[in-house]
Amino acid sequence: MSDEILILEAKRMRPMADAFLKDHPQHWDGIERATYAYHLNHRERSDAHYFSGSRMESECRWCGRSRQAVRWDQHHPRCSKRPAWANETIQSVIAREEVLYERVWALALEIARQIDPSTLTGETLSILHHTHGIDPSMLECALIENGRALPQHLHDAYLGVYKLHRETGRHGQKREIIVAKTTDGAPPL
Ligand SMILES: [Zn+2]
Repeated sequence: MSDEILILEAKRMRPMADAFLKDHPQHWDGIERATYAYHLNHRERSDAHYFSGSRMESECRWCGRSRQAVRWDQHHPRCSKRPAWANETIQSVIAREEVLYERVWALALEIARQIDPSTLTGETLSILHHTHGIDPSMLECALIENGRALPQHLHDAYLGVYKLHRETGRHGQKREIIVAKTTDGAPPL
């Protein structure tokens, strides 16, 4: 019986396939191998390969074994070099980013409460962005929450600094202390 027919049996005629495999347990290994070699997408199972194509000689991007090798070599059919990130579900990535966003937003609100917008410069906005992840539109929203506004000219000033940093590369992106004045006499952020 060919691998393909076995797979079809297993998928569509599960009870019959189960009965067949009970009587012929030696076929289990072949089915498992064929499944890992030809029928699993790398997102479908946490130990599946990530093949570069659909041909028999297409290799796994992680472990380098070809589909043919997974089907017929003497090793176990699962991928042994699957990176941890490949098993993160989209939901868990989104959840983590939401948590991160909440933190950045809370910090933006705190800064918006303390800072005097008129003392901000394009450079300060740039530092807020690349050291704390607070971009000017987020800061603007946080300021609005506190009944203030981000002066219009600062958007242009920020873009000017942004372009300058793009041109000078990452050298200009070192961490710096923010020196804008605060409204209530609290120490600078
Ligand atoms: Zn692999």
